[in-house]
Amino acid sequence: MLQCAAGTVEKSKLQLMPYHRFEVEGRIYAVNADRFCCKRLDDRTVAFLSAWEGDPRVQPEDDVRSALVKMGLLVGDQGKTCPDPAAARLERDSRAVAGWLSTDAARTSSLCLMVAQECNMACVYCYGDAGRYGGGGLMTVETSCRSVDWLIRHSGGNRKLNLSFFGGEPLLNLPLIRWTVEYAKQTGEQNGKTFTFSITTNASLADEAAIDFLRANQFEVVISFDGTPAAQDKQRPFKDGRPSYAEVAPRIKQLLSAFPLACGRATLYGGTEPGEVLAAMKEIGFQSCHLVPASGCLLTGVPEEKALFRRDRERAADLRREAAAFVAAVKRHDPAEAAYRLKDRDLSRLTSIGSVPFIVRRLFFCGVGRNYLAVDVDGSLYPCHRFVGMKEYLLGSVSGEEDPPRGLFHESPVTKSEECRQCWLKYVCGGGCTYTNIASASGPFRPDPTYCRQFGQMMETLLDAAGQLTAEDREFLYQNNVVARPPCPLDF
Ligand code: SF4
Ligand code: SF4
Repeated sequence: MLQCAAGTVEKSKLQLMPYHRFEVEGRIYAVNADRFCCKRLDDRTVAFLSAWEGDPRVQPEDDVRSALVKMGLLVGDQGKTCPDPAAARLERDSRAVAGWLSTDAARTSSLCLMVAQECNMACVYCYGDAGRYGGGGLMTVETSCRSVDWLIRHSGGNRKLNLSFFGGEPLLNLPLIRWTVEYAKQTGEQNGKTFTFSITTNASLADEAAIDFLRANQFEVVISFDGTPAAQDKQRPFKDGRPSYAEVAPRIKQLLSAFPLACGRATLYGGTEPGEVLAAMKEIGFQSCHLVPASGCLLTGVPEEKALFRRDRERAADLRREAAAFVAAVKRHDPAEAAYRLKDRDLSRLTSIGSVPFIVRRLFFCGVGRNYLAVDVDGSLYPCHRFVGMKEYLLGSVSGEEDPPRGLFHESPVTKSEECRQCWLKYVCGGGCTYTNIASASGPFRPDPTYCRQFGQMMETLLDAAGQLTAEDREFLYQNNVVARPPCPLDF
């Protein structure tokens, strides 16, 4: 739990809104947790906030007061008070959740089809029971057809729909994928819907014909790959025990020449060095990389294994190094180096962080159980791909006529979780991965402390990097196309 400080300056009826203070190498910042705007603090403002933490009756001097009022941190100026900001925020957020759930945005618009609950690899950290998800087999044409029909029927006013092909290894069932894509395009057209397609693959079966098909249908491609030969061979061997790096590396290069923006997803496990993995991912040609810690498998009863990946200090240090290298590249006007550093997916979030308030508060972490559902090989509906096979989370079937009730997935951690309600990151986080919460902290609304700590460290690093960029630095990034110039100045 990452709590904010908040309270009341009683004498003047001023109220200090929830904020988070942090320091990086002597630079001190405050983040307004409600509006998520961040400002570097001068010494006198720091002194006031420190004094206030000891004695909430302390009064700010005029210039400090007006700076904090401008940030939205101090409210109730000129005699106006806000009776109970926490209750007011909870009510506002509850209304926002209910409002959002009544819109088409909450209707299902994306289905993950588990077209192959089989895999040709045997990844040591697989959370899906070696790709079988407690079942196994290949999806039939009848089931994928029903899934497409179900999605069209229950997507409300959403005109853009997505099918993601997942497994196991989905390319084990490429003929079905080909058929389903054609069926979705035709049926979608008849119903005023358009489909986009995505796939997550280990690349081992991505031959020329498969790549041509994916390209012709403008797939978004995610490639699971652990970066270095040592990590890939040890953690992602083939099912028969053979090492896989030598076989998949050329396939990945071919895929990347067709899909230069394909995201590389590496799983950090045991002693993997994140910096080495990232360098290896960039070396093979990924422009976008996502490094994620391994999570436990709930299906086989193995709880989140604390030793899977708990080296968050190293991860945080790596990101700080990347951020420092990015800032240094900007300061010495080296656009190529700045762009190279931004290939890190976490660091690339910098492009959407600015010093102005976020307009939209995030109420959910992802679409699980709402606009995103998964279908297993038999047509059963689950909240997302990770829940497949967990009967206690079964929602229904694509053979059913009804749109099944979504239960806990219609509740937002931002209002429901005590930890998230008090967290300075809630409106940029949305409450974490529900599956991970269940796996690591035993409840959908009990956030995983490791994730929270890592996310907090990451955001502080990014906010510090953004805080070091001047208006001229930003202009340099826009002019050199390192970062797209936002159409509206309030967007950055
Ligand atoms: S899950 Fe997100 S919002 Fe909830 S406590 Fe953790 S970081 Fe904060
Ligand atoms: S619950 Fe977790 S695994 Fe499922 S869609 Fe959300 S982020 Fe992904």
